Amino acid sequence: MSNKTTILYVEDDPVNRLLVQRVLASEGYQMLEAEDGLSGLEVARQNHPDLILLDVNIPNMNGYAVSTRLKSLPETRDIPVIALTANVMEGDRSRALAAGCDGYIPKPIDVDSLPQQVAAFLKGKRESVEAVTKVQMLEEHTRRLVDSLEQTITELRDANDKLRRMEKAKADFIILASHELRTPLTVVYGYSRLLLSPTMQERMPPEVGMMLTKITEASDKLSNVVDAIVNVAVIDAKQLDLVFEQVDLGELALSIVEQFRPASQERGQQLQALNLSGFPTIHGDRNYLRRALSNVVSNAIKFTPDGGLIELWIEHTGDALDLVVRDTGIGIDRDQQDHIFDKFYVLENTALHSTSDTGFKGGGLGLGLSVVRGIVEAHGGKVFVESKGHDEANLPGSKFHLILPIHYVPPDLREKKK
Ligand code: ADP
Repeated sequence: MSNKTTILYVEDDPVNRLLVQRVLASEGYQMLEAEDGLSGLEVARQNHPDLILLDVNIPNMNGYAVSTRLKSLPETRDIPVIALTANVMEGDRSRALAAGCDGYIPKPIDVDSLPQQVAAFLKGKRESVEAVTKVQMLEEHTRRLVDSLEQTITELRDANDKLRRMEKAKADFIILASHELRTPLTVVYGYSRLLLSPTMQERMPPEVGMMLTKITEASDKLSNVVDAIVNVAVIDAKQLDLVFEQVDLGELALSIVEQFRPASQERGQQLQALNLSGFPTIHGDRNYLRRALSNVVSNAIKFTPDGGLIELWIEHTGDALDLVVRDTGIGIDRDQQDHIFDKFYVLENTALHSTSDTGFKGGGLGLGLSVVRGIVEAHGGKVFVESKGHDEANLPGSKFHLILPIHYVPPDLREKKK
């Protein structure tokens, strides 16, 4: 770090910046630059220069507002601020001084006298404005600030509305495109399943059967991806159309255990249903709840090495049921535990997926758990995970909780009831 006197020049015109920078650097000053009001403030706060040359007509926050702000911040209050403006409007000088500037240099800059002017301000020269004029100028300054505040808020509101419309259009597009993808996929999947029926298989050579199995598996995987994308888009757009009915959560969990049994057996894992019966039914959407629980169970299988144990049970707590899925897998770091429910959040380096000889941790899009959270929250519930941390050697495991209220009534039904 040098001990040179530092000058910050806030100016949007690059030609002017270059000129002043050359003139003052040749006088031995260290120059800092910013091209608009906000970044000028930022540079001033970070670098605490010895003097600030501030052009008044700069983007996003004009020089008067920047000066007022600089003088209100403890860390920049004492830095002399010199306004630079083309003297087009009557009263520019008093306006600048009223807004907190310590001096004024008219533009165009006279390169011959600039070094002396700057040196004088650095030595302590301060300009002032008559009290009466100052009051008038301050009133005007306040009015302009309020004007620009209103304009900024209006612009922000309009920009925000536009973003919302774009978000909605994006979600609609994703939903539409996914439906278009799903239709032919269903056909591929349906026909390949048909071809795989025993009577059909009898009529074809074994290698054709094997190829068909690959086609079926691939199209099944693809439809799951498409489903996950649709679900996320629908949840994002708050268009999740739940069909509420009485659902026996234990029965649903049992059927999921049966559905995933072959997958877990393939990995030598034990998938166990513990305490799942005798609980009250809950008010919910069976299909979406099935998807949520499937995602959690398939993750448990995916992130537990071969031979591990996965258990499901329900606990009745107050007015809610806590559906627990516990695995003996690789676990999740504590500081990641909230983030895994975010969209596109994948902990593993995707390059590492499926590289172990067990083939576990197969890659994913990072959508599964965000769908789980969206669905559970749409049921007035919440979801969280407990794990001692991520450790692929000691396998601390993870315990996912899906807490679902028993008597949830969604807001739109509440309205209808009134
Ligand atoms: P995906 O499985 O498609 O990667 P998810 O949203 O389902 O996406 O999960 C996000 C991340 O959370 C996963 O990539 C994984 O790192 C972590 N995770 C989820 N479930 C488990 C689990 N049972 N054990 C360990 N890590 C898990």
